[in-house]
Amino acid sequence: MTLARIALHGGAGVIDRQHLGPEREARYRGELQRIAAAAWARLETGASALDVVESAVRDLENCPLFNAGHGAVLNHDGVVEQDAAIMDGRQRAAGAVAAALRPRNPIALARRILDDGQHVMLVGPNADRFAESCGIPRVDNTWFITPDRQAQLEMARAEGRVSLDHDQHAGPAPVTASGHSPDDKRGTVGAVARDAHGHLAAATSTGGMTNKRPGRVGDSPLIGAGTWADDATVCVSATGHGEYFIRCVVGHDIHARIAYGGQDLRSACGAVLDRVAAMGGDGGLIAIAANGEVLLPFNSAGMYRAWVAADGVLRVAIYGDDD
Ligand code: ASP
Repeated sequence: MTLARIALHGGAGVIDRQHLGPEREARYRGELQRIAAAAWARLETGASALDVVESAVRDLENCPLFNAGHGAVLNHDGVVEQDAAIMDGRQRAAGAVAAALRPRNPIALARRILDDGQHVMLVGPNADRFAESCGIPRVDNTWFITPDRQAQLEMARAEGRVSLDHDQHAGPAPVTASGHSPDDKRGTVGAVARDAHGHLAAATSTGGMTNKRPGRVGDSPLIGAGTWADDATVCVSATGHGEYFIRCVVGHDIHARIAYGGQDLRSACGAVLDRVAAMGGDGGLIAIAANGEVLLPFNSAGMYRAWVAADGVLRVAIYGDDD
């Protein structure tokens, strides 16, 4: 029996049938199915977990339905600033990029930083410079921008709020003390995998939050917060209200609960998401434990997700009740 496992997410939030509608729902399901099937095929033919999470996240970045790469959300200035990270569970090697403006696929730049090995994270225009020096394909920032995202920014600006993704039924949603709408949804993308040799890897990529302050960095590119992998314990990619996920150090806390506390994956993830919720944040994560257990928990209404667990069956789900 194969050791291979895969899980993907395309963001969590207040995602419900009524507002998504059958046509959009079918598009999301179709894209998740297509990308997960390609990732699974690679794993089954012996690709490493690291290569598979990179290629799966690149496919998700290339899909405009999600908040990463082409179709990512805009900051207050109407600019796309992208965060991404990738981690190899074999030796905890990691590469990350924050507030990148030009790499066409931010996850490819994160992978290049990992392979280079000198640093873990590069930010802003200097990350773009490194991309150029490595021959990573770059585009003008306007290439990432879609009309939907421009409309989303205009609405967020008009309402004076910083919002998260998948907010199509925006309307004048109530705003919390922190300036965020409880109606917000997120479209960050991520992948975790265990390969045929039992190695773990994780990758995450996002445009962050609509109307965010220029220079804001979320949890996704922060090793130990939104992205984590260690062969001895677990690989994790998170999605949610980044500020809370940073303060809860979500990925590393799950690792620590397993490594030092002897918790199983379900209790570790549950305890960490409970802490995020207790602080006022919401979202979800995908995780694969060293023993092969696959978990995709979230404390929001829905999370775009696809996975293959021990039974080898590819599953796609969106809402809280359709697993
Ligand atoms: N966690 C991301 C951030 O705060 C947003 C998301 O998951 O959609 O940047």
